Amino acid sequence: MATIRNLDPATGELLAEIPITTPTDLDAAVARARAAQLAWAETPPEERFARLARAGEKLAERKGQLGELVTYEMGKTKRSAVGEVQGYATGIPRMLAEVAEAIEPQSFEGTASDTVLVRDPHGVVAAITPWNFPFGMPLEILIPALATGNTVVFKPSELVPQTGAALAEILADELPAGVLETVQGAGDVGARLVAADVDMVGFVGSRETGMKIMESASRGLKRLVLELGGKDPMIVFADADLDAAAESAVQHSLRNTGQVCCSVERVYVADTVADDFEKLVVSKAREWKHGNGFQDGVKMGPMVSEEQRGKVAAQVDEAVRDGARLLLGGEPDGRPGYFYPATVLADVEASQRISYEETFGPVVSLTTFSGSEEEGVRLANDTPYGLGANVWTGDAELGRRVARRIRAGQVGVNRYLTGASGTPWVGARQSGFGFLGGVEGHRQFTTPKSIAVAKA
Ligand code: ADP
Repeated sequence: MATIRNLDPATGELLAEIPITTPTDLDAAVARARAAQLAWAETPPEERFARLARAGEKLAERKGQLGELVTYEMGKTKRSAVGEVQGYATGIPRMLAEVAEAIEPQSFEGTASDTVLVRDPHGVVAAITPWNFPFGMPLEILIPALATGNTVVFKPSELVPQTGAALAEILADELPAGVLETVQGAGDVGARLVAADVDMVGFVGSRETGMKIMESASRGLKRLVLELGGKDPMIVFADADLDAAAESAVQHSLRNTGQVCCSVERVYVADTVADDFEKLVVSKAREWKHGNGFQDGVKMGPMVSEEQRGKVAAQVDEAVRDGARLLLGGEPDGRPGYFYPATVLADVEASQRISYEETFGPVVSLTTFSGSEEEGVRLANDTPYGLGANVWTGDAELGRRVARRIRAGQVGVNRYLTGASGTPWVGARQSGFGFLGGVEGHRQFTTPKSIAVAKA
């Protein structure tokens, strides 16, 4: 039997071997989801919501155990793993309230008809998710997909199969048979699921995989929501609060060992303040001790895999070879596991791979610019991605103007980019297709249908 070898990123040791779903079993799972779909769609929304809310309570009750599983499988600190479980589980009622609003029928009065606009589920949704937020990312798809009346076949990342299985089991316990099915495996299993008898693919992962999914889904004109990567810029103008900007640059370059789609990946600092900013960044980044995520005092766990660490190390080494200044880190310390230290680079140039390919590692990458609005906007937009951006300036008007000119889904001005709750999470340009979250995001799990009734 083929298995996933589930490794502990803090030691490289084998945690478990998880059977990979065979093609026959995958087709059977999709068929069960298909068979369950009509009855689930016809279940009153209130009952669907109540079942999912109960599942949310169970997830929150087990946050300690689930959080530990996350730390074992992908390495993040236990504190942030438990925080992820708690945050997403307790956020489920709010998501359900948004879904209720999203699918509320709307009335339109015409001269010849009374028309009502309802929203039908697509049918069977394939949910394919990454490992970096192994608990949160699946829920971003599973909750709106299920709450709107779709059934789901879920494939967690092959790097977090146990977290995926535990999450799905708790949800499925509250649902009728077949409403949520789970399959296990890597990209080949994901590709097979996309090509199977599903109506929609909800995907969070890399741009390259998103492109492959879009191509395959085109054969059935399947609906898509793709949340992909980014190369988020941060622009620091000369009049910015440098200490706060440096704090945010470090926090959001290093958080989750840099393995976040909306990490700060490129920092552009006005030349007149670059020296001061550099010093602040280095002194703050030094505090980010790495180690086993279960240890107290550790701010960064290991990277998820040897492969991921290798990609980061190659980008850093190339940049240094080509003239970037290494101010901190840059050298794994040889202990077992996939550790990579907090790293700060300065004088990074546009021609270097680290400035245009997603790094997905614990690196603060600094580049100096003239400090002008035009150059700041140009540099920020110098990427095919469009996920997030961060602007720091003492001039609120300039901040708002630059935010409007940057082509991205979310921009923070004098703060990190996350918006108030209820706003969607949007990958503009090549960072996504469709989007998740908020009333508008949830509606993408449905097709609008108008029913026109003749006036008597
Ligand atoms: P990351 O490595 O950042 O998680 P990937 O895009 O490689 O990004 O993986 C995200 C998810 O997509 C994982 O669950 C993975 O198994 C799955 N996947 C990888 N390749 C494919 C593919 N060709 N079709 C469908 N799913 C895939």
